[in-house]
Amino acid sequence: MQNSAKPLRKIVIVGGGAAGWMSAAALSAVLKPPYEIRLVESEEIGILGVGEATIPLISMFNGLARLDEAAFMKATQATFKLGIEFVNWGRQGERYFHGFGRVGKEPLWPVDFTQYWLRMRALGRAQPIEAYVMSAAAAQAGRFMLPRREMQNSPLADLAYAYHFDAGLYARHLRALSEQRGVRRTEGKVVRVLLDDQAGPTQGHVRAVQLESGEQVAGDLFLDCTGFAGLLIDKALGVGFEDWRHWLPCDRAWAVPSESTKPLLPYTRATAHRAGWQWRIPLQHRVGNGHVYSSQHMSDDEAASVLLRHLDAPPLADPRLIRFRTGMRHDAWARNVVAIGMSAGFVEPLESTALHLIQMGIAGLIEAFPHEGFDPTEIAEYNRRSRERYESVRDFIVLHYHLNQRQDGGFWDACAHMAVPDKLRWRMDLYAASGRLVYVDTDLFREPSWFEVMEGQNLRPRRWLPLTELQGVEETAAYLKGVSDTIANCVGVMPGHEEFVRHYCAAGAGR
Ligand SMILES: Cc1cc2nc3c(=O)[nH]c(=O)nc-3n(C[C@H](O)[C@H](O)[C@H](O)COP(=O)(O)OP(=O)(O)OC[C@H]3O[C@@H](n4cnc5c(N)ncnc54)[C@H](O)[C@@H]3O)c2cc1C
Repeated sequence: MQNSAKPLRKIVIVGGGAAGWMSAAALSAVLKPPYEIRLVESEEIGILGVGEATIPLISMFNGLARLDEAAFMKATQATFKLGIEFVNWGRQGERYFHGFGRVGKEPLWPVDFTQYWLRMRALGRAQPIEAYVMSAAAAQAGRFMLPRREMQNSPLADLAYAYHFDAGLYARHLRALSEQRGVRRTEGKVVRVLLDDQAGPTQGHVRAVQLESGEQVAGDLFLDCTGFAGLLIDKALGVGFEDWRHWLPCDRAWAVPSESTKPLLPYTRATAHRAGWQWRIPLQHRVGNGHVYSSQHMSDDEAASVLLRHLDAPPLADPRLIRFRTGMRHDAWARNVVAIGMSAGFVEPLESTALHLIQMGIAGLIEAFPHEGFDPTEIAEYNRRSRERYESVRDFIVLHYHLNQRQDGGFWDACAHMAVPDKLRWRMDLYAASGRLVYVDTDLFREPSWFEVMEGQNLRPRRWLPLTELQGVEETAAYLKGVSDTIANCVGVMPGHEEFVRHYCAAGAGR
């Protein structure tokens, strides 16, 4: 093990977007004095402020950072999210739902529920898959309630959900919490990054960042949370970036808020357009919208006009243009710098994965925390796992683009004909052969998610597993009916989403 000369005590987080403040909130919940945590951010540069939709694993982060759910939802104008409705993705005019959580129920029989469903569907004896997914059925009925863990045999026991929230308010909420726990915030623009040039184990490490005011903020460990700027990991340490544009060609987005509409939907909508797609994220006080597109296939003016034309209520501001790059840093952790957030990589927002990748970056850092110095083996493992996570998310997103049968040429044709990453090809081939689904331990999305997207975008298996036929047709049909009836009954007793939010976490008026 290669130790630095002194134990590590001072942690400097550079950047105060979601990545910076999520890191501060989680680290300050875990590290007590003598550890010191300092965060430097520049109001003049500002934050990206568009991470508004999440996935269920954010509850892990809430636990880690000790966030109270109702309080945080109230502070961030949050609503619940049960999944994503995809419109026009397979073919124009089609829609499907990627609901969180389980499909069907724990199999009583030898193979996965989806196998029985595939067989029954072929025999005309199954309902659409949403009828067997608790989150999807509740979402489509506009209903929500918190899981009832004590109802062990009910699909309500493990209803999976996430949140939509205002990204700016989220960073503000985490900031207040972190400051209460002793994180020291410094306002200022970093103009230089100073490296240690003394011979020894920390030579080449970042020693301090220098602010415009001349102040130097020194530290033992630095978190680069400077977003696309990658001020430390890239500009100072020169760690390169792997570009994934050839698989994910969207590189820009227009974002615009619009007035709230009724009812308050408990899901995100992603509607495909000619050269990308549009998000719709309902919050308590407004709806967040954005059009993600490929600048090679559509001009900025046209993209803005497509966005505005497809709003379902008047805009509340002028659209804002965001440029981004899809790909990942070769190494997220180099020397004494750990890149978290957009500085580490970015896979476009179709499945709302960026905040999750941030939380996993932080959790991994806490696990491998270099209390007494930097161990190259730990760093290599951190980077390996980080790479696998990013690649697995990337493949899942590529799947949505690749598996399209749209007829509007150009962008979608190119996506349908591209050579996809090998691991994705393997997953698709296996599913196409027999409906089999694969899980790898760094996968963020589990088998049900892959199934819902492959099924929703019309990838049809050639057969189902023969073991499925150990059960008779009538017996299997009754089994499926039992599941869909139970789900329908559960939906029947759930309150409306809007009503639930009003009682549980209504925010005050204003924006
Ligand atoms: C179009 C789009 C939609 C998205 N939607 C979602 C979504 O729905 N769900 C999701 O999970 N994620 C989403 N994301 C990703 C999400 O927005 C980001 O992961 C999240 O905002 C974290 O960003 P960040 O903190 O890394 O960077 P930023 O928000 O850019 O923060 C960077 C920080 O670094 C500071 N900084 C930079 N340079 C300096 C300097 N020289 N000196 C001092 N400070 C500096 C800035 O002031 C700022 O505080 C989306 C991203 C895009 C592009």
